[in-house]
Amino acid sequence: MYYSKRNQEPSVQEQTEVWECTIEECKGWMRKDFSYDNHQKCPLCGNHMRAGERLIDKIPLNPHRR
Ligand SMILES: [Zn+2]
Repeated sequence: MYYSKRNQEPSVQEQTEVWECTIEECKGWMRKDFSYDNHQKCPLCGNHMRAGERLIDKIPLNPHRR
């Protein structure tokens, strides 16, 4: 008998390229998907951001973006 191999996990996380604030205490970061510049500024403190990676929830194919 067959059974589905398809996983139905509600949220899948994936390693995603992001910009991270260079200030240690600051939590500011944003997905690279949302920006094309190489010189991002932190939305929280306005400092420079550096390229990094984060495990974040995969965005489902959905036209509704926040
Ligand atoms: Zn910051």
